[in-house]
Amino acid sequence: MKQIKGIGVSQGIAIGKAGIWENSLLKSPEHYKYHIENGALELEIERFYKAIKKTETEIKELQEKIRTEAGTQYVDIFSFHLTLLEDPLLKEETVKIIRDEKINSESALNRVIQKLGRKFKKKQTDFLEDRRRDLLDVIERILINLQAPTPKRIDKFQNEIIITKDLSPSQTVSLDKNYVIGIVTEIGSKTSHAAIIAKALEIPAVIAENATKEIKAGDRIIIDGDAGLILIEPSKTVIEEYLRKKNKLVRLQKRLFFIRDLPCQTLDGRRVSLHANIEFPQEVETAKKYGAEGIGLYRTEYLYLNRKALPSEEEQFLAYKNVAEKMEGNKPIIIRTIDIGGDKFTSVLPSIGELNPFLGWRGIRFCLERKDIFETQLRAILRAAVYGNLKIMFPMVSTIEEVKASKELIKKVMLALKNEKKEVKEHIDVGIMVEIPSAALITDKFAEISDFFSIGSNDLVQYTLAVDRSNEKIAHLYQPCHPSVLRLIKTTIENASKHKIWTGLCGEMASIPEMACLLVGMGVQELSMAPGAIPAVKEKIRTASYSKLKKIAERAIHFNTNEQVYSYLLKELKKS
Ligand code: PEP
Ligand code: MG
Repeated sequence: MKQIKGIGVSQGIAIGKAGIWENSLLKSPEHYKYHIENGALELEIERFYKAIKKTETEIKELQEKIRTEAGTQYVDIFSFHLTLLEDPLLKEETVKIIRDEKINSESALNRVIQKLGRKFKKKQTDFLEDRRRDLLDVIERILINLQAPTPKRIDKFQNEIIITKDLSPSQTVSLDKNYVIGIVTEIGSKTSHAAIIAKALEIPAVIAENATKEIKAGDRIIIDGDAGLILIEPSKTVIEEYLRKKNKLVRLQKRLFFIRDLPCQTLDGRRVSLHANIEFPQEVETAKKYGAEGIGLYRTEYLYLNRKALPSEEEQFLAYKNVAEKMEGNKPIIIRTIDIGGDKFTSVLPSIGELNPFLGWRGIRFCLERKDIFETQLRAILRAAVYGNLKIMFPMVSTIEEVKASKELIKKVMLALKNEKKEVKEHIDVGIMVEIPSAALITDKFAEISDFFSIGSNDLVQYTLAVDRSNEKIAHLYQPCHPSVLRLIKTTIENASKHKIWTGLCGEMASIPEMACLLVGMGVQELSMAPGAIPAVKEKIRTASYSKLKKIAERAIHFNTNEQVYSYLLKELKKS
């Protein structure tokens, strides 16, 4: 048996066969290469031109579709694809290679791609990187139309553990948990969005470098999403041991279910609201199953991923209304406006190929520039607010002007809806995510224009420590209990309480019971997390007293390192 130690990013145990998923058709020219006899060369060239023709028709169809579904401004993306298809280097050079070297179209085409790739690389700019991606997109289409052996589609895995280099958030969304029982990727981290989705879908997941080299398709493997372990070809005894572990976890979940309807309060009566993070309306059912008292973070950008056109106002209105109606009893639902950018991109919008996407055109920055998209979303939220206790929250806020401009937009949209005689709610709470140090440091100013704060610790840690949240190489530097992060959280809570507004936290930190207790001690009033984490956090908070947690928090903030804080928490909380 071979064992790989990686990072566990979504808890649970999966036992099954490995399915390797390659998310690209582009391989070395040798991969597809075969010889063409002299007499068959013209036929081969004809086959290549047919594939080009078919690709052209497909792109034109896509162009039409996007024109009708999203508007003329998106047509240009595909016009550029058509220009690439016409590029003499692409067509003539491929044909020349087929003729000169007597090889098949796929192999010749791959040779040309490599040549073009080198050209792009030499003059590396954002613009060219974008064009390179466009080119790859077109070439993949040609390869499919040449009927090169296509890799298995991601939604076609059956009872397998997917092993792949990387999964984008949108690919993770396409997984069907009835078929995919586990995920192993080489790239990512606990807070990368693909990991967050795996957690939301309750699929065990581990990140491990070199996984695609170490594991072969069909290998029997076990993945342990808590310990971050992968066991390849384990013995019968090990499998039995893990089956027992798995059953124990199921029993633990069942036990935790019993506290579902008990309030989340400390021994001395301090109430804390436990809310769920969701990405899709269907997850409300899971949130309720685990006893969420509300939705603390609805990541609405997932409505924009994996699709060919932007969601209309009506589609969004129905999604938000659906969540409001499912979450009966006027329970709070915090709708975060689109947080596109960072590691979440949508094919519907042209990518601008940034060098540092996490520091770039993301969240509120994107929305304030694409007011057309922002206003459509705000209209949908304000209309849906009639059906429940909806609140609006802005992501990636770094300046006061951003909040003021966004609130002005809400006013404008509200007025427009009223003029159209649409039913809207008169007042809606508007809060911000505190996830950038500049915002945390002036939360006294933000508190004057916000109804609440929700600390986005996933990003706050990333931006405070300058550690890319999705880079496994520096995962050890990603430290939620680093004293600098704790100080920013403390400042935020204190400023909120001075201005009589509440503070919540909706990053992954909230789902670790000991850290949740620390946050309660610091004064956080709401914690929002993946639904499955709620029972264990509640159980821990119910066994501690607020007076003790306050003392723990006061002491914790004075330690020098993340490690010291965390060991102190483990030691102190074991006693309660
Ligand atoms: C966060 O940054 O902590 C957060 C909850 O938002 P996201 O993970 O979607 O960036
Ligand atoms: Mg964030």
